Amino acid sequence: MDLSDAPQLSDASHLSVVLDLSPTQWHLSGLLSNKYPLSLNSFLSHVLAFLNAHLASQHENTLAVFGAFPGKSLMLYSSTLHNPELQSIDSNSYAPFKLVDSTIINRISDELDAIDQSEEEAPCALVGALTKALCYVNRISLPPPSNSSTSPNTRDSTVLPDPRILILSVSPDLSTSYIPIMNSIFSAQKLKVTIDACQVYGPDAVFLQQAAHLTGGSYLFLERRDALLQYLIMSFLSAPSIRQVLAVPTQDRIDFRAACFCHKNIIDIGFVCSVCLSIFCQPVPVCSTCRTKFPIKTLQRLNASRPNVPSLSKSGPPSVVGTPQSRTPASTRNLPFPGEQPLSTTPGNGNTPATNGSNH
Ligand SMILES: [Zn+2]
Ligand SMILES: [Zn+2]
Repeated sequence: MDLSDAPQLSDASHLSVVLDLSPTQWHLSGLLSNKYPLSLNSFLSHVLAFLNAHLASQHENTLAVFGAFPGKSLMLYSSTLHNPELQSIDSNSYAPFKLVDSTIINRISDELDAIDQSEEEAPCALVGALTKALCYVNRISLPPPSNSSTSPNTRDSTVLPDPRILILSVSPDLSTSYIPIMNSIFSAQKLKVTIDACQVYGPDAVFLQQAAHLTGGSYLFLERRDALLQYLIMSFLSAPSIRQVLAVPTQDRIDFRAACFCHKNIIDIGFVCSVCLSIFCQPVPVCSTCRTKFPIKTLQRLNASRPNVPSLSKSGPPSVVGTPQSRTPASTRNLPFPGEQPLSTTPGNGNTPATNGSNH
């Protein structure tokens, strides 16, 4: 096997980890009625061992950890920032590991203690934490602004090979976050950041599957949650460039469904604006994003061709009544009026660009 083109094993790599720290989900995950209960404490001990393994595998490796709390996200640790708090000397622990562990644990417990338990829990700010991780990667990827007179060779040390983001999620998909997640995926693609995702608890996360697939990462649904550390080390410890010579688990099935822009529901069959590619769950006379008007005849025909039963249960098998006809693009059957555009239908497709409707 010719490994001359393979990346050097000595390349340093950057890892950003996003931790989903929803108190409710972690309470449910730790219940003994689960087949493999996993409490937040044991989760954190697995994760800290994994983070230490990343730091130990290469001296130049960098690490940042972000926490997603209800309605709030923040950076918990970064190896490029100097953490001034000096730890008490413990002869039984390696000081750099101890610093990472205690910084992360202290900040998480401070934040969880500060949560007002009398209020209803806000949704977890997973997208906020992901966005912060992307901003952080972007910032440390840039060359330092000062010392422009120094030789350009010094820049090479600041360029990160294979930056990657690992999302450890326990919350179900939040359909309102579809557009921000898709926009984060596009940013990650531009930055050449690989997004890995691991669903530690709860149902499969549709949007995280798409994030991993579209950025070349791995998505893992955890079956044996008591073996979390083993999964993390086997699947996510190696840098993406090394994974081409390793057999890292990848997805055999990916859920490509999208969320409609009007109600933020995850839909099986959507109606796509032919001008701006916004997705709607039902035919609309005017696109809410680009204000394009559609012919009334097209609306009537699309409405008539929709399945009569509007999907009795989301988890059941998808209804196929009438879908072959309703998926036919309207433009193939009827020409639009002058100055008006047809509204076409499409099956769920993850390649549809997400457009933020508020910009128009
Ligand atoms: Zn809708
Ligand atoms: Zn539109």
